[in-house]
Amino acid sequence: MRVLLVEDDDRVADALIPALVRRGLTIKRLAHGAGVLDIIGDVDVVLLDLGLPDVDGVVLCRQIRAASDVAVIVVSARGEVDDRILGLRAGADDYLVKPYDVDELVARVHAVRRRKTPTPGAPAQSGVAQVADVKVDFDRHEVTVDGAAVSLSRKEFHVFGLIVAAHGAVCTREQILAEVWGRSGSAENRSLDVHVATLRTKLGRPALIETVRGVGYRLASQPGTLD
Ligand code: CA
Repeated sequence: MRVLLVEDDDRVADALIPALVRRGLTIKRLAHGAGVLDIIGDVDVVLLDLGLPDVDGVVLCRQIRAASDVAVIVVSARGEVDDRILGLRAGADDYLVKPYDVDELVARVHAVRRRKTPTPGAPAQSGVAQVADVKVDFDRHEVTVDGAAVSLSRKEFHVFGLIVAAHGAVCTREQILAEVWGRSGSAENRSLDVHVATLRTKLGRPALIETVRGVGYRLASQPGTLD
């Protein structure tokens, strides 16, 4: 897996690169936005610091997305919700807030990569996914919790399936609305809230679906501690 690290802070880069290489990733690094668009064709994932010296990271993110389908994870030092929303609206696939755990970063890198490259020949969602004691059978449209079947409506299953298939990366409201409702008016937005609330109740695992305020939903990062 080839990762482009766009990070102007040498201390961050010097600590991060060896840790990522040890975990099997191949790293290229740029300390500025200039030149990024020239090499995104040679990498699988871009780790993009939003605070760069020569260019607004959000603008660069938009340019990357316009030029390529490469996976982008936005890294924000400030951790402000606004940054995350801006980053994800600009087409990023996920975000991380500094300081972050390297293993979490690597997990997110693999997750966005998996999402970008579905198994060849297979539909985007097929087979069975298991999260803690929740099992999703995409082919049979069945969900079981601790072995007991849970009855979901078609839309509820679709919403839950998208969140599960993202492997812990964020599913934005826009993505879910586009895929499940085909439009994103205020009625559909309210309907999405209701569907997620119903899912949490029906699954009996309220912590399983995490709300990323103003952005969307993702699977809880520690499914072992659900309840
Ligand atoms: Ca920076």
